[in-house]
Amino acid sequence: MNIFDVEILSNEPVADKIFRLTLDAPELAKTSRAGQFIQVKVADEFTLRRPFGIASTTGGRVKIFYRVVGRGTYTLSKKVVGDYLDILGALGNGFTPCDGKILLVGGGMGLAPLLCAAEQFNSDILIGGRTKDEVTFWQSEFEPHVEKIFITTDDGSYHKKGFVTDLLPEILGDYSAVYTCGPEVMMRGVARIALDNNLPCQVSFERRMACGLGACLSCSIDTSDGRKKVCKDGPVFDAQKVFGGDKLG
Ligand SMILES: Cc1cc2nc3c(=O)[nH]c(=O)nc-3n(C[C@H](O)[C@H](O)[C@H](O)COP(=O)(O)OP(=O)(O)OC[C@H]3O[C@@H](n4cnc5c(N)ncnc54)[C@H](O)[C@@H]3O)c2cc1C
Repeated sequence: MNIFDVEILSNEPVADKIFRLTLDAPELAKTSRAGQFIQVKVADEFTLRRPFGIASTTGGRVKIFYRVVGRGTYTLSKKVVGDYLDILGALGNGFTPCDGKILLVGGGMGLAPLLCAAEQFNSDILIGGRTKDEVTFWQSEFEPHVEKIFITTDDGSYHKKGFVTDLLPEILGDYSAVYTCGPEVMMRGVARIALDNNLPCQVSFERRMACGLGACLSCSIDTSDGRKKVCKDGPVFDAQKVFGGDKLG
């Protein structure tokens, strides 16, 4: 883990309030694993860095995707090509590779770290979103890296109507593991289906965090191995350890 001063190569909107940020960061790209994240110092007036999942590490570039939700991400959206950003990373453990083909299952901004997993692992993707507009740019981002793309939309405006958990039981027979990132309620449902079918499942959490280095404990979660820090011990956990037993509901 290091601090890098990196140049912005592009920072462009790809959907409503969602931006793709590309950074010239060869050293960071070389040492990052899928599932890890970076902490971005958005501007001097922000004491806390903002965490974002690494979405791509090819060609000496690091990409992230972010949704504008507050002051930090709004400020980030105003950065222009040629500006420099102070980045801490790569942080966290990342996904553990496994044999066979992996089914990636993501919703919302949880799809960002899964894009990096699609780059690095033999995988297909199940994308969930509320509407067509929310998922089509993800579809084109994943297309070069996977063989199959499955899509569900809550409103039925694109592909299958419903949640990823409605489609998952029909397709998981072809895979040796499931990796998921997105809203916790979605990940819990995905984990239940995977574990019921005896498939290993890794879940990536995006808890609010402050230091990102394991010092402040603000992002701790309960696991069957005791309290764990999402920033340091995670963000990726074995689903059995966080959602196993009666935690699956
Ligand atoms: C490990 C990790 C990886 C992440 N990866 C991504 C990513 O790839 N893309 C992306 O868009 N976002 C990601 N996030 C969430 C992102 O860090 C927050 O959205 C961002 O810090 C908000 O900053 P802000 O100053 O704009 O908003 P703030 O003013 O801090 O908050 C505005 C709103 O956003 C909500 N919010 C803030 N932090 C989080 C969070 N961690 N999770 C959920 N809601 C939050 C707040 O509850 C509040 O409602 C990740 C978070 C973590 C912990």
